[in-house]
Amino acid sequence: MSRLLAIITSAMLIAAPGVFALDIVADGASDYTIVTPDEAFENVTYAAEELQSYLQRISGAELPIVREADAPDAARIFVGPCAASEAAGIETPAWEHFTARVVDGDLFIVGGDGEGRPLDRATRTGTLYGVYGVLGRFGGVRWLWPGETGEVVPASATFTVPDDLDLADGPDFRIRSLWVTYRNPGWLSNDYYTWWRRSGQGQDISGNAGHAYSWMLGDKLFDEHPEYYAEIGGERKPMRGTHGQICTSNPEVIEICAQKAALDSRDIVPISPNDGSGFCECEQCRALDVPEAMMPWGAGEMVALTDRIFTFANQVADRAHEINPDKLFGHFCYTFFKQPPAELEDLSDHIVLFFAYGCHWYRDPEMRKLYHQHIDGWSRYGNPA
Ligand SMILES: [Zn+2]
Repeated sequence: MSRLLAIITSAMLIAAPGVFALDIVADGASDYTIVTPDEAFENVTYAAEELQSYLQRISGAELPIVREADAPDAARIFVGPCAASEAAGIETPAWEHFTARVVDGDLFIVGGDGEGRPLDRATRTGTLYGVYGVLGRFGGVRWLWPGETGEVVPASATFTVPDDLDLADGPDFRIRSLWVTYRNPGWLSNDYYTWWRRSGQGQDISGNAGHAYSWMLGDKLFDEHPEYYAEIGGERKPMRGTHGQICTSNPEVIEICAQKAALDSRDIVPISPNDGSGFCECEQCRALDVPEAMMPWGAGEMVALTDRIFTFANQVADRAHEINPDKLFGHFCYTFFKQPPAELEDLSDHIVLFFAYGCHWYRDPEMRKLYHQHIDGWSRYGNPA
């Protein structure tokens, strides 16, 4: 990609204006019209509005937006896959990737899109990323942090793209998200999610690795089957809300959790432990721990619970996959189980790992070194980081 960009940049530098460049806006005025498909997803309409808004902020020119049926004969920016892009031979890219191409003086921005609101986490918005890609590359627009103070929108009376533009790009990862505050306050929400999308964050598939033991098993079986729940100090304890844990070595618990996870509607179904501590102290659960696998904890050390937790996760994911082969299962590498397994040989092919590491801890050189060791350790399970 960097080589392709270098070639485009060189072409722009040597091109005489109007010869090798396509003037979308010149001297603050534009002949161009933004065209959306006749049947457009909401996020494609939003992409056209974003393009219109930023072109106006850059140059002062306000380009009209019309549906394809009302499009003029020339000087068009097609936003989203449509009849004209198909006729021009532009294939709709996979998932959230995009193509930005100039054909006979028209600019096409065509991405992999889906149903859904543009700021919803799992809406596929390839065309929108294409709009942001074009604005960034050819207008110098940047979104550094949420809100207007985080935006860079260089003013220019012209907006130009190469007249032989043929750019293909898109995210390298199917899930991209920074969690910058513990709880986003309401006043920040719209600014935050607008920036989140403009900076390329999003995900192509639904689901996550959230805390799930309460969701998978619940408390309603406690009276009948206390043995399903964590033993603490010799006593079985029910979960409380989203806290407390379950007995992860109990085969009936594994079956109940697998049944629940297999039938969920999300693409990646969360199967992580509840937040906090309270893990089972029964003999069978403790037998899965590796006493030598110590990890730093507070001012001291503790036995990592990774081997026992991922033994359960493997069993749930493999069993749930038998029931529903379309599903993947999300699991945190976090707190008591962030250290890679000590003895567990394999990780189920149906598990997606989510690393929940605080970026503020990452500033500490010793912690950073430890995290790199962890990620290297996890990568041997088949997902090189
Ligand atoms: Zn147990």
